[in-house]
Amino acid sequence: MLELRPNCELCDKDLPPDSNEARICSYECTFCAHCVETVLHNVCPNCGGGLVNRPIRPSVARRPGVSLQHDPASTRRVNTRYSRQEIESFAHGVKDIHPAKR
Ligand SMILES: [Zn+2]
Ligand SMILES: [Zn+2]
Repeated sequence: MLELRPNCELCDKDLPPDSNEARICSYECTFCAHCVETVLHNVCPNCGGGLVNRPIRPSVARRPGVSLQHDPASTRRVNTRYSRQEIESFAHGVKDIHPAKR
């Protein structure tokens, strides 16, 4: 199940489960839209993959047993282990390769 992480891994901005600003990679690494646009350039700094809008889990169970109430968002904040400078350099080297070709 998709882990709904509570913050941007780079700038630590809060990204609640209903946020429209959350972006994720295939490993669920989570960033805010601003960091994706200005620093990451669609490159996850942990895996090199592309980033897409994180889907919003329904707050109400429209089907039995499936909702944010049943499967709440994670509260464990994750922060990148790479420096901003290292991330900028990494993203620069990968951003011009289409995610499907990485
Ligand atoms: Zn951010
Ligand atoms: Zn990643």
